[in-house]
Formats: sequence, structure tokens, C-alpha cells
Amino acid sequence: SPTTPIAQQPSFLNQEQEAPDLPMSLADASKLGKMLNTTLRDSSALVVDRNDPKSPLYSLKSFEELDLKSELLKGIYSMGFQTPSRIQEITLPQLLSNPPRNLIAQSQSGTGKTAAFSLAILSRIDPSMSIPQALILSPTFELALQIGSVIERMAQYLPYISIAYAVRSSPTLSSTNLVRGQLLPQPIVIGTPGTVEDWCRRRRIIDLSKLRMCCVDEADVMIATEGFQQTCVGLVKGLNPACQMMLFSATYSDEVMTFAREIVTQPIVLRLKREKQALNNIRQLFIRCDNPEQKFYAIEQIYSHLVLGQAMFFCRTKATARALAIRMSNEQHSVRELTAALDIEQRASVIRQFRERVFNVLISTNVTARGIDIDDVSLVVNYDMPVTMGGKPDFETYLHRIGRCGRFGKLGYTFNLISSDQDFNTMKAIEEYFHHPINEITIEAIGNLE
Ligand code: ADP
Repeated sequence: SPTTPIAQQPSFLNQEQEAPDLPMSLADASKLGKMLNTTLRDSSALVVDRNDPKSPLYSLKSFEELDLKSELLKGIYSMGFQTPSRIQEITLPQLLSNPPRNLIAQSQSGTGKTAAFSLAILSRIDPSMSIPQALILSPTFELALQIGSVIERMAQYLPYISIAYAVRSSPTLSSTNLVRGQLLPQPIVIGTPGTVEDWCRRRRIIDLSKLRMCCVDEADVMIATEGFQQTCVGLVKGLNPACQMMLFSATYSDEVMTFAREIVTQPIVLRLKREKQALNNIRQLFIRCDNPEQKFYAIEQIYSHLVLGQAMFFCRTKATARALAIRMSNEQHSVRELTAALDIEQRASVIRQFRERVFNVLISTNVTARGIDIDDVSLVVNYDMPVTMGGKPDFETYLHRIGRCGRFGKLGYTFNLISSDQDFNTMKAIEEYFHHPINEITIEAIGNLE
């Protein structure tokens, strides 16, 4: 039985009634990703997937091979880039080819997509033309500014590069004397769909038919925002057929691909995806627990018998996460919570500290269901099983949760704590879905593991 007197512990009871903690919006996840990825992510564990596996795929080994203007190369090196990242290796040869090719590319955030299209765009800008030549569509004001800051750094030795920001209360509008119907002098325009449409159709300071490049960034976030998808499709209709189209996304889904194909004609599709075998390194188990106290007892047993590194626990509600965090802290674990109660800055700080191993146990909710990538976790505990809002098994979230462990060939453990028939049925459905066994283990047998 549990070692600590129950009376001194926060109660796990009555937390079932609480509403589940909500997953963060894609826009928030994307912003968080940008805050966290201040350096390039390691994508060595990702494999290339493409729509035309027969044609040879050229992979760039150095930036020199691209035959860039020396000022642009100097800009790239001054940012500390020495060699192209994985996604840059495969997309840049396509993006810079002549005649230009249309591209759809997907890889997780922090892998170098922004730098890839920024470089491609900068390499094609004609210095002799003072009109918008490249348009970058971004789902949020902040992302637009972030892309701009990358381009500005990369173009620091290219004096003819300037950027117009087509966002609400745009700095460009207040700083330039705009004349309706007279095209902007900036060769690059970055903006959100609504304002870009306004600048094209009403103000007529961007001529879509004169653009030579158009990039849709964060396509997954774009389609999650009401109305943006249609506005993007409308804008693309006004482009010259010779305009090079590129579309980038951090996540992949049928919805994103449908949108992507509507926007980009005859594309090359390149993806960096996780190898399927990832689940092979994860030992998935389930433990029957009659009540929350038993769940906690199971956790104690796991910790007293297994040597564990970084661990993530997932609860349904903030209240359960809080109660569990307090209990585990009392047991001398170094614990932090990551729930929707935290703002984005706080979330970023918790994740940074977890990555740096300032603490070892991260107790979270569905707020981390997507967008947050943490590598190298050795234990994942589903304190509560992942279900959708409608109470159905949430396969994607399960995979996302446990896919964090067992990376880099190391063995990882996933424990599912099962306390009801519904939990059990959810677990069985998940087991069937992934064709990977989830074996039962009793609390007493935990000591026999490994
Ligand atoms: P994404 O758009 O996929 O989220 P970014 O282009 O923002 O990724 O790149 C993520 C981080 O990696 C940024 O800090 C960026 O400066 C850095 N980075 C990008 N490409 C390289 C490279 N080739 N070498 C080193 N760092 C890079």
C-alpha cells in the first residue's frame, strides 16, 4: 500500500468532473515552436518522403554549390549557418532550379524551412525592379515579422532588399507615402491573407500578376484560421502561371495536402517524416488501477524499480496534473507542470528547462498534444488515456505522446494506467490501431521488468 499517509496528500477525488484541459491552438503551438527553436533541430532521425520516388533527388551538400551571389552567401554564413539543414538539402535544389519548380514541403518546426524559402526568394530577386516580386503569406502578424527578421539578416549585404509588411496596422503603411494604384517599391511583401488581399484588390499597391514567387508558410496554421484558406486560394488565382509557388507546413494531414494541392500546381512534394519503426523501441504496458490512489502507488513502484531519465506524465485535467505534481514533489521528484494555465512564455520556459534537464518529471495535459517536440524521454505515463472531445480514442495524441520516448535507438517505457472499462476499451482500440501490443503488467510485477 502507499507509503505516505493519505490524509497529508492532496485528494485525487472529484477531479473527474472537471473539464479536460484543452489542446493549444495551432497558432500558439507554432509561436511556441519558434520561441523554442533558436537553433536548428536535429533531423537525422527523419526520412525523406516524396511524391515522385523514381526521379533522382538531388541533395545539396554545401551552400557554395548553389552558385549564389557572394553577398547572399556572406549573409548566410554571418547567421552561423555552415551547411544546409536536411530540409534545405532537398528543397533548395528544387527551389533554385531553372525553370523554377513548384514545391510543397513539410517538416517539423525548427528544421530550417523559413531559412530555405528566404534563401530561395532572395536569390531570385531582380535588383533592377522596384516593385513587389515575392509574396509570403503568413497566418499571423507575429510570424510575418519573424520571417521578415530572418530575411533582413540574410540580406544584410544586399542593399536593394527591403520588405513591406502587409499586416493590420502595418509599419509599412505609416512609413511610406502610399499612393493608391501605385505599386509598392519593396521587392518582398510579407503579410497575412486579409491585408494582402486588401493591398492587392482595393489599394492596388501589389500586382499579383507581376509576382515571380509566392510562398505560403505554416499552411497547417493557415487552414486552422477561419477564412484564410479561401482568401489564399483567391489570391493565388490572380497570379501569373509562371509564378513559382511554394508551400510549407510543420505538420502533415489530408486537410493540409488538399489545401496545398489547391494552391500549388504540379508540385514536387517533399517531406521529412519520422520512421515508422519508432514504436519498436517503446515497451508499451498497461496497469489496472482501481482508483487514483492505486495509480499513484503504481507510479511509485515504477520509480522504485526502473532507472529512468526524463519522464512525461499526461493527465486529463489541470486539477489532476496539479494534484499529481504535488504528490510527486512530496516524494522528492523534481517536477514541473505544463498546462493551459500557463501563458506561452511560461510554457516555453518549462520546456526549455525540461530539455536542459533542470527537472526530470513533466506533468502535462492535452495542452501539449501537438506542436511541442521534446526528444529523448525514457518514460511516458498516460495517467489518463487520451480521448477526443467526443470521448473516442485519440490515436494521434497517443502516438504524439509516446513517440517522444524510444528515440535514438534507446529503449523507452510507456505505462497506461487503466481504471475503468472505458479506459480499457480506449487502450484496446489504440493497440489494434497501431498493431503494437500493449501488455498487461500487475503492480507487483513491475519489479521484474528489465
Ligand atoms: P522552421 O521554419 O522549420 O521552423 P527555421 O528556418 O526557423 O525553421 O530554423 C530553425 C532554427 O535553425 C533557426 O534558429 C535558424 O536560424 C536555424 N537554422 C536554419 N538553417 C540552419 C542551417 N543551415 N544551419 C544552422 N542553423 C540553421
